[in-house]
Amino acid sequence: MRLISVLYALLTLMLMGGAGLVLLLFVPNTPLPPAWNPTLSLDVTDPVTPMTRIKLQRALADGASCKAALTTGATFQPMADLVTAPQCGIADRVRLTAIGAARLRPVETRCQTALRTAMWHHHGITPAARRHFAQGVSAIHHASSYNCREMRTTAGGTGRMSTHATADAIDISGVTLADGRKLSLLDGWPAADNRGAFFRDLRDSACMWFRLSLGPDYNRLHADHFHLQHTGWGLCR
Ligand SMILES: [Zn+2]
Repeated sequence: MRLISVLYALLTLMLMGGAGLVLLLFVPNTPLPPAWNPTLSLDVTDPVTPMTRIKLQRALADGASCKAALTTGATFQPMADLVTAPQCGIADRVRLTAIGAARLRPVETRCQTALRTAMWHHHGITPAARRHFAQGVSAIHHASSYNCREMRTTAGGTGRMSTHATADAIDISGVTLADGRKLSLLDGWPAADNRGAFFRDLRDSACMWFRLSLGPDYNRLHADHFHLQHTGWGLCR
Protein backbone atom coordinates (compact mmCIF):
# COMPACT_ATOMS: atom_id res chain seq x y z
CA MET A 1 0.00 0.00 0.00
CA ARG A 2 2.74 2.34 0.94
CA LEU A 3 4.63 1.48 -2.27
CA ILE A 4 1.53 2.22 -4.36
CA SER A 5 1.00 5.60 -2.75
CA VAL A 6 4.65 6.47 -3.33
CA LEU A 7 4.29 5.45 -6.98
CA TYR A 8 1.13 7.55 -7.26
CA ALA A 9 2.91 10.50 -5.76
CA LEU A 10 5.82 10.08 -8.17
CA LEU A 11 3.49 9.79 -11.17
CA THR A 12 1.55 12.86 -10.09
CA LEU A 13 4.76 14.80 -9.65
CA MET A 14 5.95 13.78 -13.12
CA LEU A 15 2.65 14.79 -14.69
CA MET A 16 2.67 18.07 -12.82
CA GLY A 17 6.33 18.62 -13.57
CA GLY A 18 5.74 20.03 -17.03
CA ALA A 19 2.84 22.19 -15.89
CA GLY A 20 4.81 23.22 -12.84
CA LEU A 21 7.73 24.34 -14.95
CA VAL A 22 5.43 26.35 -17.22
CA LEU A 23 3.85 27.95 -14.13
CA LEU A 24 7.27 28.71 -12.65
CA LEU A 25 8.34 30.40 -15.87
CA PHE A 26 5.27 32.37 -16.82
CA VAL A 27 3.13 33.29 -13.80
CA PRO A 28 3.58 36.93 -12.82
CA ASN A 29 4.48 36.14 -9.21
CA THR A 30 6.76 33.22 -9.97
CA PRO A 31 9.16 32.41 -7.14
CA LEU A 32 11.84 31.72 -9.76
CA PRO A 33 14.48 34.50 -9.43
CA PRO A 34 14.68 36.65 -12.59
CA ALA A 35 18.32 35.66 -13.15
CA TRP A 36 17.19 32.04 -13.47
CA ASN A 37 14.15 32.73 -15.64
CA PRO A 38 15.02 32.31 -19.33
CA THR A 39 11.73 33.95 -20.42
CA LEU A 40 12.87 37.30 -18.95
CA SER A 41 15.35 39.43 -20.83
CA LEU A 42 18.87 40.11 -19.61
CA ASP A 43 19.42 42.43 -16.68
CA VAL A 44 23.13 43.27 -16.66
CA THR A 45 23.17 43.58 -12.86
CA ASP A 46 21.54 40.21 -12.14
CA PRO A 47 23.79 37.55 -10.61
CA VAL A 48 25.35 35.22 -13.18
CA THR A 49 23.50 31.91 -13.54
CA PRO A 50 23.52 29.14 -16.17
CA MET A 51 20.74 31.17 -17.88
CA THR A 52 22.90 34.29 -18.27
CA ARG A 53 24.66 33.11 -21.42
CA ILE A 54 21.33 32.33 -23.10
CA LYS A 55 19.92 35.72 -22.17
CA LEU A 56 23.08 37.49 -23.33
CA GLN A 57 23.03 35.77 -26.72
CA ARG A 58 19.41 36.85 -27.17
CA ALA A 59 20.24 40.42 -26.18
CA LEU A 60 23.17 40.52 -28.61
CA ALA A 61 21.04 39.29 -31.52
CA ASP A 62 19.67 42.68 -32.59
CA GLY A 63 20.01 46.36 -31.82
CA ALA A 64 16.67 46.81 -30.05
CA SER A 65 17.21 43.89 -27.65
CA CYS A 66 20.76 45.04 -27.05
CA LYS A 67 19.77 48.59 -26.15
CA ALA A 68 16.98 47.32 -23.87
CA ALA A 69 19.50 45.15 -22.00
CA LEU A 70 22.11 47.91 -21.90
CA THR A 71 19.72 50.25 -20.04
CA THR A 72 19.84 47.86 -17.07
CA GLY A 73 23.54 48.45 -16.41
CA ALA A 74 24.88 51.44 -18.32
CA THR A 75 24.27 55.08 -19.23
CA PHE A 76 24.18 55.78 -22.96
CA GLN A 77 22.40 57.56 -25.76
CA PRO A 78 21.14 55.55 -28.74
CA MET A 79 22.30 57.03 -32.05
CA ALA A 80 21.53 56.54 -35.72
CA ASP A 81 23.72 53.98 -37.48
CA LEU A 82 26.97 55.45 -38.79
CA VAL A 83 27.98 54.69 -42.36
CA THR A 84 31.23 56.34 -43.43
CA ALA A 85 32.83 54.03 -46.00
CA PRO A 86 31.99 50.63 -47.53
CA GLN A 87 33.98 48.78 -44.85
CA CYS A 88 33.51 51.26 -42.02
CA GLY A 89 30.65 52.31 -39.83
CA ILE A 90 28.73 51.59 -36.63
CA ALA A 91 25.51 49.56 -36.68
CA ASP A 92 23.36 49.74 -33.53
CA ARG A 93 25.37 52.78 -32.50
CA VAL A 94 25.35 54.08 -28.92
CA ARG A 95 27.24 56.85 -27.15
CA LEU A 96 28.34 55.22 -23.90
CA THR A 97 29.16 57.49 -20.93
CA ALA A 98 28.98 55.24 -17.84
CA ILE A 99 28.67 51.62 -16.77
CA GLY A 100 27.15 51.30 -13.33
CA ALA A 101 29.00 53.83 -11.16
CA ALA A 102 32.02 53.90 -13.48
CA ARG A 103 32.32 56.82 -15.87
CA LEU A 104 33.85 56.60 -19.31
CA ARG A 105 35.12 59.33 -21.55
CA PRO A 106 32.13 59.29 -23.97
CA VAL A 107 32.70 56.60 -26.57
CA GLU A 108 30.67 55.86 -29.67
CA THR A 109 30.51 52.14 -30.18
CA ARG A 110 28.28 49.32 -31.26
CA CYS A 111 25.66 48.37 -28.68
CA GLN A 112 26.90 44.77 -28.64
CA THR A 113 30.43 45.89 -27.76
CA ALA A 114 29.02 48.16 -25.03
CA LEU A 115 26.82 45.37 -23.63
CA ARG A 116 29.73 42.94 -23.38
CA THR A 117 31.78 45.68 -21.69
CA ALA A 118 28.92 46.25 -19.23
CA MET A 119 28.78 42.53 -18.37
CA TRP A 120 32.55 42.53 -17.88
CA HIS A 121 32.36 45.60 -15.63
CA HIS A 122 29.62 44.21 -13.39
CA HIS A 123 30.85 40.60 -13.23
CA GLY A 124 34.59 40.91 -13.83
CA ILE A 125 36.08 44.34 -13.10
CA THR A 126 34.00 45.23 -10.03
CA PRO A 127 34.42 41.90 -8.18
CA ALA A 128 38.17 41.93 -8.97
CA ALA A 129 38.54 45.50 -7.66
CA ARG A 130 36.71 44.49 -4.46
CA ARG A 131 38.94 41.43 -4.06
CA HIS A 132 42.25 43.19 -4.63
CA PHE A 133 41.54 46.73 -3.41
CA ALA A 134 38.37 46.41 -1.28
CA GLN A 135 36.50 49.00 -3.35
CA GLY A 136 34.74 49.51 -6.66
CA VAL A 137 35.88 51.51 -9.69
CA SER A 138 34.82 55.07 -10.52
CA ALA A 139 36.08 55.17 -14.11
CA ILE A 140 37.04 52.86 -16.96
CA HIS A 141 39.65 54.17 -19.37
CA HIS A 142 39.41 53.32 -23.04
CA ALA A 143 41.74 54.10 -25.91
CA SER A 144 39.11 53.84 -28.65
CA SER A 145 36.38 51.72 -30.13
CA TYR A 146 35.44 52.96 -33.60
CA ASN A 147 38.37 53.58 -35.92
CA CYS A 148 38.18 53.13 -39.70
CA ARG A 149 41.55 51.45 -40.16
CA GLU A 150 43.31 48.24 -41.13
CA MET A 151 44.35 45.59 -38.64
CA ARG A 152 47.84 46.09 -37.21
CA THR A 153 50.28 43.34 -36.31
CA THR A 154 53.85 43.39 -35.05
CA ALA A 155 54.85 42.87 -38.71
CA GLY A 156 52.91 45.97 -39.79
CA GLY A 157 49.69 46.35 -41.78
CA THR A 158 47.68 43.36 -42.97
CA GLY A 159 45.43 44.74 -45.70
CA ARG A 160 42.45 43.47 -43.69
CA MET A 161 40.13 45.83 -41.90
CA SER A 162 40.30 45.95 -38.12
CA THR A 163 37.23 45.06 -36.07
CA HIS A 164 37.55 48.66 -34.85
CA ALA A 165 36.34 49.74 -38.31
CA THR A 166 32.88 48.51 -37.33
CA ALA A 167 33.18 49.26 -33.59
CA ASP A 168 33.05 45.53 -32.85
CA ALA A 169 36.03 46.05 -30.54
CA ILE A 170 37.03 48.34 -27.71
CA ASP A 171 40.49 49.02 -26.26
CA ILE A 172 40.61 49.35 -22.46
CA SER A 173 43.74 50.85 -20.90
CA GLY A 174 42.92 50.92 -17.19
CA VAL A 175 40.56 51.96 -14.43
CA THR A 176 40.29 54.50 -11.65
CA LEU A 177 39.39 53.04 -8.26
CA ALA A 178 36.65 54.58 -6.11
CA ASP A 179 39.32 56.28 -3.95
CA GLY A 180 40.69 58.07 -7.04
CA ARG A 181 43.78 55.92 -7.57
CA LYS A 182 44.40 55.41 -11.28
CA LEU A 183 45.60 51.99 -12.46
CA SER A 184 47.02 51.69 -15.95
CA LEU A 185 47.57 48.38 -17.67
CA LEU A 186 51.00 49.55 -18.86
CA ASP A 187 52.33 50.04 -15.31
CA GLY A 188 50.08 47.56 -13.52
CA TRP A 189 50.57 44.42 -15.62
CA PRO A 190 54.32 44.03 -14.90
CA ALA A 191 53.91 45.09 -11.24
CA ALA A 192 54.64 42.44 -8.62
CA ASP A 193 51.97 43.88 -6.27
CA ASN A 194 48.20 43.43 -6.38
CA ARG A 195 47.93 45.49 -9.58
CA GLY A 196 49.46 42.64 -11.57
CA ALA A 197 47.04 40.12 -10.06
CA PHE A 198 44.13 42.52 -10.59
CA PHE A 199 44.85 43.00 -14.29
CA ARG A 200 45.32 39.25 -14.82
CA ASP A 201 41.91 38.70 -13.24
CA LEU A 202 40.54 41.34 -15.61
CA ARG A 203 42.04 39.57 -18.60
CA ASP A 204 40.61 36.21 -17.48
CA SER A 205 37.13 37.61 -16.88
CA ALA A 206 37.20 39.52 -20.19
CA CYS A 207 37.60 36.13 -21.86
CA MET A 208 34.24 35.13 -20.35
CA TRP A 209 32.36 38.13 -21.71
CA PHE A 210 34.04 38.84 -25.05
CA ARG A 211 34.60 36.48 -27.94
CA LEU A 212 38.21 37.57 -28.32
CA SER A 213 40.49 39.22 -25.75
CA LEU A 214 44.10 40.27 -26.30
CA GLY A 215 46.40 41.81 -23.71
CA PRO A 216 50.08 42.29 -22.88
CA ASP A 217 50.75 38.52 -23.07
CA TYR A 218 49.69 38.53 -26.74
CA ASN A 219 52.24 40.95 -28.18
CA ARG A 220 53.94 44.27 -27.51
CA LEU A 221 51.21 46.19 -29.39
CA HIS A 222 48.93 45.30 -26.47
CA ALA A 223 51.28 46.28 -23.64
CA ASP A 224 49.06 49.22 -22.68
CA HIS A 225 45.54 48.00 -23.48
CA PHE A 226 43.19 45.04 -23.66
CA HIS A 227 41.72 44.62 -27.13
CA LEU A 228 38.23 43.18 -26.56
CA GLN A 229 35.96 42.00 -29.33
CA HIS A 230 32.27 41.29 -29.73
CA THR A 231 33.13 39.09 -32.73
CA GLY A 232 35.91 36.53 -33.17
CA TRP A 233 37.13 33.04 -32.49
CA GLY A 234 37.62 32.65 -28.79
CA LEU A 235 41.25 33.76 -28.69
CA CYS A 236 42.15 34.72 -25.13
CA ARG A 237 45.70 35.86 -24.40
ZN1 LIG B 1 41.91 47.13 -30.37
